[in-house]
Amino acid sequence: MHYLGVDIGGTTIKAGLVNETGRVVESRTAATAADDLNLFLSKLSELITDFQTSYTIDAIGVGVPGLLHSKTHVIEVSPNIPCLDHVNLEEKLADQVHIPVVTQNDANAGAYGEFVCGAGAGSENMVYLTIGTGFGSGLILNRKLFVGTTGYAGEVGHTVIEPYGVRCSCGRIGCVETVISSAAMVNLARSRGKPEWVTSKIIFEALQRGDPEARAIFEKTGYYLGITCANLMNILNPDMIIIGGGVMASGSALLDPAIEEARRRAFRSAFDSCRIVQSTLGRNSGIIGAAMLARDR
Ligand SMILES: [Zn+2]
Repeated sequence: MHYLGVDIGGTTIKAGLVNETGRVVESRTAATAADDLNLFLSKLSELITDFQTSYTIDAIGVGVPGLLHSKTHVIEVSPNIPCLDHVNLEEKLADQVHIPVVTQNDANAGAYGEFVCGAGAGSENMVYLTIGTGFGSGLILNRKLFVGTTGYAGEVGHTVIEPYGVRCSCGRIGCVETVISSAAMVNLARSRGKPEWVTSKIIFEALQRGDPEARAIFEKTGYYLGITCANLMNILNPDMIIIGGGVMASGSALLDPAIEEARRRAFRSAFDSCRIVQSTLGRNSGIIGAAMLARDR
């Protein structure tokens, strides 16, 4: 049996053919047509047809950056891909390709991937955080993906951590995403007189050279990440918090200060029963998770 996992990003659609055990057999990409639904659907169908020339696809899972209603399966809002707003992508795509389709929030798909065949294998209650341009998250509770009453649970990135902070991409003030993301690190660099540090990778390279400004940026970001982890520990008492996304290429540079801050902030017993670790599926977590959601539906 083969499943297609699709990870829709603001500029690129990544798709991978995944086998029964969660291994990516082959992957391809296509450009995202963010403003034209018909073009978006035809590009996506084309990508799927390409795979079908060499494989039989049993089901398709799609990770979407946005809020999906769990009962109607309608995408409420997708800020980076406006043509998907108020669309039932599951139904529209299935009509075109005649294969069962399941859609899920992209970070929820990533959480499921890590739970089924990544760092979270064997976990009972885990939180997945993904730190890139933005901040995504998904929850596995009692060994199940937890989406809440209508599908909008687990939006840790849009919980408030700085009530008098800066405006978030969601329009509100001081969300976690405004202080823990590559964009937040770049803003911090600019405010510390390093406007040339335009990516988190550049800041990490400066850190590796021993630059004290870069160290301060990682410590500040890790401080907020630690507070966020401590809050999650005290709310959910998970056995694991798994952190992925592009910024985590820096590994312990971010993880160490976060763990120290979480140790200071969380209940001791909640901290002691939780491990904070790096994702093992890396950039494939979304693809694998979406495919496994299609397998397990
Ligand atoms: Zn927000």
